[in-house]
Amino acid sequence: MSIKMKLSLFISLIVAVILTLNISIYYISSKNEWIAASEQQASSIAKQIGATIDMSEQAKMKVEDSVGSSLRASAVAALELLPSNYEEITNEQLDAVSDRIGVDDITLWVQEEEDIISVRSSEPDEIGLSAKTWGYWYDAFSNLFNLEPVSVREGLALTNFWSGPYNFATSDPSKINKWGYYYDGSTNYMINPYLNAQSLLSFEQMAGTNALLNQLVDQNDNVLEITGFNPEFFGKDPILRIKRGVIVHNLDVRGIMFGEYTYQNDYDLAHILDASDQQQVVTTTASVNGTDVLKSFIPLSGSTDYVLSVTTDYGSVLHLLNRQMLLHVVISAILLVVAMVASYVTSGFLLRTLNQILSSVNTIAKGQFGQHIHIHSKDELGELAARVNSMSTSLNLYVQQIKESSEELRSTKQYLESFINHTSDAIHVSTRDGLVMQANQAFEEIYGWTAEEVLDRPLENLPLEQQEEYRELLGQVLRGHSITDHETVRLTKSGDTIDVSLTISPIRDEQEAIVAVATISRNITDRKQTEEMLRRSEKLSVVGQLAAGVAHEIRNPLTTLRGFVQLHKTKGKIGEDHLDLMLTELDHINYIASELLVLSKPHLLSYQPVNIEEIVRSMTVLLDSQNGDHPIHIRVEKDVVIPLVYGEPNQLKQVFANLLKNAVEAMPQGGTIDIELTSTDKGELCARITDQGIGMNEDQLERIGEPFYTSKESGTGLGLMVCQQIITTHNGRMTLHSQEGRGTTVEVILPPYQS
Ligand code: ADP
Ligand code: MG
Repeated sequence: MSIKMKLSLFISLIVAVILTLNISIYYISSKNEWIAASEQQASSIAKQIGATIDMSEQAKMKVEDSVGSSLRASAVAALELLPSNYEEITNEQLDAVSDRIGVDDITLWVQEEEDIISVRSSEPDEIGLSAKTWGYWYDAFSNLFNLEPVSVREGLALTNFWSGPYNFATSDPSKINKWGYYYDGSTNYMINPYLNAQSLLSFEQMAGTNALLNQLVDQNDNVLEITGFNPEFFGKDPILRIKRGVIVHNLDVRGIMFGEYTYQNDYDLAHILDASDQQQVVTTTASVNGTDVLKSFIPLSGSTDYVLSVTTDYGSVLHLLNRQMLLHVVISAILLVVAMVASYVTSGFLLRTLNQILSSVNTIAKGQFGQHIHIHSKDELGELAARVNSMSTSLNLYVQQIKESSEELRSTKQYLESFINHTSDAIHVSTRDGLVMQANQAFEEIYGWTAEEVLDRPLENLPLEQQEEYRELLGQVLRGHSITDHETVRLTKSGDTIDVSLTISPIRDEQEAIVAVATISRNITDRKQTEEMLRRSEKLSVVGQLAAGVAHEIRNPLTTLRGFVQLHKTKGKIGEDHLDLMLTELDHINYIASELLVLSKPHLLSYQPVNIEEIVRSMTVLLDSQNGDHPIHIRVEKDVVIPLVYGEPNQLKQVFANLLKNAVEAMPQGGTIDIELTSTDKGELCARITDQGIGMNEDQLERIGEPFYTSKESGTGLGLMVCQQIITTHNGRMTLHSQEGRGTTVEVILPPYQS
């Protein structure tokens, strides 16, 4: 559902709620207002009725009282005309007296043991009645017969006289009479004259309460009926009398005092009692015989307590209300439709801008950045449009930047890749566990394996004797150190050993954790060979130089030999001692020649336990022969036990030949060379060669070991460099101490041989 639809539905919903509320409030308040008005009306009716009742009641009493008084006068007058014994009186006589004194009839009553009975009457039907069941009438009769004041509340009591309220004639229930009773003890009967009260009641009916009620009901259209209840008797079983076989209501103990009671409801009694007890108006609605009515029960207090009920037509009011409400609903429905249409149109208008923005955002979402919306309104939508525009611009910019940097990255990557692939060093990356992840082209050239062959596998280029060393190196790398230019040997795919210089470094991830190891291997086999060549050429040069001295050396014994041989030629024989001497000289020559040969022989590397003392001594023999005009004396001092070392005898000979030659050359005026052979604290072998030559200054000392540095005319400047290399390959070290003009000490330390 679109926002437009939602918005218009939402607004319509709000309008609908407001209208519904409005109708409901109107309905409820009108109803309540009407009920209140009805109550008001009922109350004012009640007031009128109350006042009228009081008045008519008083009037009625007055009439009754005056009728009562005249009945007493009539009774006294009648007694004048009648004997005191009833037995002497006839009914006809009573009829005549009645006519004479102006009452309708006269009845005579006699008190018997348990009853009061009518014994004579001008009306034959009234004779022989028993008053015993007549309630307060009987009480009043008894009071009269006993000559006491009448204590009955009802009726009118005068001296020796009592007049009952209007009542039916016992002899004829269709008649309502006013009765008077007189007894003063002068007779043996109670005289009872009476009048027909129908005309009085008719008057009361015409001008009294009922007339008013009818009038009120006629005047107020909505008032259906008005009823006066006596809360004392209403709802109780009616007090009935059976008079001459006919059931009659006792007029003064009726539940309904006046008015009609057609709209009867079961709850009326409760409401009547409620209103009477609380002395306040009770209003209720009910449905009686299909008519909706509103009943107000109003307590009235006068000579008697009444509850007045005013019944109004609620149904017609409801009908009216419902009609009004229907009208309201129809109007509201129309309003609602108008609101819906209006809100739909309005929201469409408002959302037009939003739709524009939406379509622009869609374009941006499709990747076309830089689009601009042309909305210049100052509201939130205008602001949104501006934001979308700036977002679009920024995105455009960012995309451009990303493109540029990705291009840069690509070229850098390409550059790096070509660098890695075209470098002459083998580069391979392996996991911490040694599985190869990547290898470059040079790797294949150096080691012989293609990248595919080694991928995800451990590399098998470690010679057995290098494994311990490699484990140590890898440990260092995994602890975060880098190894640079570590010279060692490795195997190629074909099983050849090559000299390599390794640079091993850790590769870390974003969290600085070491995830891989990069190894750069440089093939230094050629360099090693060059070094070896240098070593050899140096040696040859030493040998060459030594050869001159050697030639000189062997010339002396040869001269001796020649003398002996000549002596033998001239004498024909030679003595034993001469022959021994000749043999000694020959051995000497042989020894010198063989040592020279050993030195000049190309190396066949064969490592073995070597006794340095033997090496040193063989070299001193060679040098001894160098003694010319300025004799050189060589002294060897040694500890009792010196350690054997593990090494290549020829290479070690080359070292000491070099060092001794340097020492000799430093002493052009001759002197002593001291050779000390000792063992260090750590059990290493220490050979110290000290001369008393020219020595070296600071500058010269600094340049020692530099290839081709020499201070001699025929020097090579390679001797010390070669010595250094050889000692290093034997895991030893060499140090020089020198003082210009005083001499030089060279110290060589070699690790001991361990079997
Ligand atoms: P070369 O002997 O061919 O000159 P070396 O490498 O043996 O080459 O020696 C280099 C230089 O070191 C020598 O030329 C010399 O100046 C100096 N040197 C070496 N040994 C001694 C020494 N015992 N006393 C003084 N100088 C020395
Ligand atoms: Mg030298």
